[in-house]
Amino acid sequence: MARNYDHTSQRDDSKKNRLERLAAYEMTKVEAGEQGYTVQAKYHPGNDPSPFANGKKKPPVGYQKPEATVTRPVDLVICAGGKHSQLRNKYMRDRAVTSARSYGVCSWEGPKDQPLPNDRLDTFPDFRGMVVLDQQFQQFFQEQMISQVERIEGLSSDERRLLGQQTHGQSRGVRSLQSSIHGRVMKTRCFDNNNLVYIGMELPEAFTQFCHKVKQKLAALPVPDLDQNGDKRSAADQKAWRNQRVAKVQKALSKAWFQTVAHSYGIDQSLGVTEEMIDDPSVAVFYLQQRRVWRNVIKKKSGSRQVVITAAGDAAATPHFMTGSGLTGARENVLHLQNYTRDVWNGPRIYNEYGLEQRQDRLEDAQLDTADFVIRQGLNFLI
Ligand SMILES: Cc1cc2nc3c(=O)[nH]c(=O)nc-3n(C[C@H](O)[C@H](O)[C@H](O)COP(=O)(O)OP(=O)(O)OC[C@H]3O[C@@H](n4cnc5c(N)ncnc54)[C@H](O)[C@@H]3O)c2cc1C
Repeated sequence: MARNYDHTSQRDDSKKNRLERLAAYEMTKVEAGEQGYTVQAKYHPGNDPSPFANGKKKPPVGYQKPEATVTRPVDLVICAGGKHSQLRNKYMRDRAVTSARSYGVCSWEGPKDQPLPNDRLDTFPDFRGMVVLDQQFQQFFQEQMISQVERIEGLSSDERRLLGQQTHGQSRGVRSLQSSIHGRVMKTRCFDNNNLVYIGMELPEAFTQFCHKVKQKLAALPVPDLDQNGDKRSAADQKAWRNQRVAKVQKALSKAWFQTVAHSYGIDQSLGVTEEMIDDPSVAVFYLQQRRVWRNVIKKKSGSRQVVITAAGDAAATPHFMTGSGLTGARENVLHLQNYTRDVWNGPRIYNEYGLEQRQDRLEDAQLDTADFVIRQGLNFLI
């Protein structure tokens, strides 16, 4: 620990470098043993970027295959596995602190040989951080929706007919969506980087409900009994078939929505962020609800041995991506943990056992303050 603070790089000197990087290992549990606590990690070859691990390159002589599981002695475990951290879930409870709302994100990217013309700082003169769902917005969305749904590949004629009815301008669903969102002003979060334009925003509940109903109706259509090889579909195959179709429809509707937002900013014209430039994997809709751990510093004792388990970043508190508090919170967690480890390193020379407890309490207070900050940033959006 002490060596980590002297800021000189000792990467190449394995004797001096105390940091061990276990790429593609997943921390799975913390266990008490006779020698003290250990953390166990499991190797996932599929996640290993090394070309030798996945057979892409012939390993050099003497190459040692990573062990399937490793254990290491541990005094402090930091759960930094993001908001779904399994390790955090094993040792501490997290609880919801806001209601959930529906959000979506989308980005556009130009081809490498013909990048978007946004290489200056002033390519977004009209970005107001909000979008008005007026008549023009709705009209454009309607056209986009029909064109995006028509582009979905591999649908049966029944599915096409159903989607055609559901997305028709005179359908009950579309009319209800239009009257619910009419005139609303929604906040957007936009940024652009070289050859990239990104928009994220809360989605009106009526849009989420509309998508939900269309998907529900699609999922209710009968699935063909036989697959393309003429084999009978199992129940699991049928479910996978339905899920795949539902996902395609959701993607098409989301793309239509975000293309309309881009159009209302005029950047489809000025920056060429047309529907062909949408980066498909980036298009996502999700419910966002902020959660935080109830207690951040968990002490486990076994005889005279002790381990401290703590959470950092999204594992400690779910940020709201529209506010950009996630990385600030995570960095603050790192500072608290550095202070704590530095104190513990110095501690035995100066303090007794009680001093250590006090330090742990201080770490708990600091980590909870950071979680307060991260959550507070998103409250305006979610309450
Ligand atoms: C669309 C979007 C936009 C955002 N924009 C911003 C922004 O502009 N500014 C900002 O500050 N924040 C933003 N955020 C939030 C920010 O991305 C997160 O707060 C930040 O990435 C959290 O970092 P983290 O290290 O805690 O978790 P993550 O980035 O989620 O990383 C966790 C890592 O741990 C790994 N892992 C999980 N479990 C284990 C295990 N048991 N063992 C080993 N490894 C494990 C995972 O594979 C993953 O790589 C945004 C988020 C989203 C979704």
